[in-house]
Amino acid sequence: MAQKFLEKGYEVTEHTEKADIYIINTCTVTNMSDRKSRQMLRRVRDLSKEAIIVACGCYVQVGEEELKKIDEIDLILGNNEKKDIVEHVEKYIETHQKDTKVDDVMYKKDFVEFGDITYTEKTRAVIKIQDGCDRFCSYCIIPYARGRVRSRNPKNIISEINKIAQKGIKEIVITGIHIASYGKDFDNKYKLIDLLEEINKIKGIERIRLGSIEPLLITEEFLLRLVKLEKVCEHFHLSLQSGCDETLKRMNRRYTTRQFRDIVELLRKYYKNVILTTDIIVGFPQESKEEFTITYNFLKEIKFYKMHVFKYSPRKGTKAAQMKGQIDGKIKEERSQKLIELSNINQKTYNVQYVGKKVDVLFEEQKDGIYKGHTKNYILIHCNDIKNDLNNNKRTSNTSNKEIENQILTVKCIKAHEEYIEAELQ
Ligand code: SF4
Repeated sequence: MAQKFLEKGYEVTEHTEKADIYIINTCTVTNMSDRKSRQMLRRVRDLSKEAIIVACGCYVQVGEEELKKIDEIDLILGNNEKKDIVEHVEKYIETHQKDTKVDDVMYKKDFVEFGDITYTEKTRAVIKIQDGCDRFCSYCIIPYARGRVRSRNPKNIISEINKIAQKGIKEIVITGIHIASYGKDFDNKYKLIDLLEEINKIKGIERIRLGSIEPLLITEEFLLRLVKLEKVCEHFHLSLQSGCDETLKRMNRRYTTRQFRDIVELLRKYYKNVILTTDIIVGFPQESKEEFTITYNFLKEIKFYKMHVFKYSPRKGTKAAQMKGQIDGKIKEERSQKLIELSNINQKTYNVQYVGKKVDVLFEEQKDGIYKGHTKNYILIHCNDIKNDLNNNKRTSNTSNKEIENQILTVKCIKAHEEYIEAELQ
């Protein structure tokens, strides 16, 4: 949406600044996200009484009626309208007529094409390859906000990445709502692996990172082809959610811990330096002490590099929100703390193994004199003395961010911390 405005000559500002138009791309993944979206919509009105305020995105998709009650909003637009965002706003500028346009996404069969998006706020570009999800996990509202699986035409994806590569971007992140389902609506004749093989050939792109993936995507057949793609990063974010089969069943996740363990073994067999990260929900309805202990022990065994731990929060409109046996907030907090501790230990232990090793880092930013970037397997690296190193030990005060940003450089790891490794340029 930012790019669409830029193409028409608008300027994009920070959301905290005074602007003429505010586009709030709402999220609805939890009740809290809904609340934050509403707060943001009201807050921007305080920044400017005259501004045009647009609510779009997933909360609009499932909470249209609630949003209509908020006077501050001028336009309410569903997910399918985002591609025409500028036209909607310009119509409002002419007519000053409040409007709501929200299609029922459940009946949509085609991916909504935005055109080649090359606008990126970060060093790495996010490439959307599909929309929607058919999995219906019992806690999740996303299938209702995003609709069924719709895959993006591979030609458009390749065209977009080519343009991004021409801009000098080296790393892309393949993303979507459920990327493992890519191609399902092409009768499975062209799947994610076919697409990745084509992307791997694009000149200029040096790293292909996969966004969160469904564990069941990883089969030996898939890995035998994937491992040949040298640009694919050895970092896989496998959403596990629980390490207990009973909890997984209630969550309507479609794998068992045994299958998951086999998948992890396969990944570790094919990728020597693989880093695995995951999402875990604690305090899911009816998660007993025993179930949590099973989860904890499973996680201890798997040793994820990092776990994103979420305390279950009931999402209105989902099956899990209606389940008996909702867990007390204090228990959720305790369980969450236990898993965060485990995650921190794992991360530090893994980082320590890198001390003394040389790694290639794609530098992303400089903040307070510290240069930050990630390795191919997604370890965060901090370098302090790049100014000196880059200038052959001649200290200068004007080495700019741009000199280092978006460069892949070799560094030597010198000290491991929980969240990152300190390193020096080689
Ligand atoms: S697979 Fe992911 S997006 Fe789809 S329903 Fe489950 S949690 Fe939601």
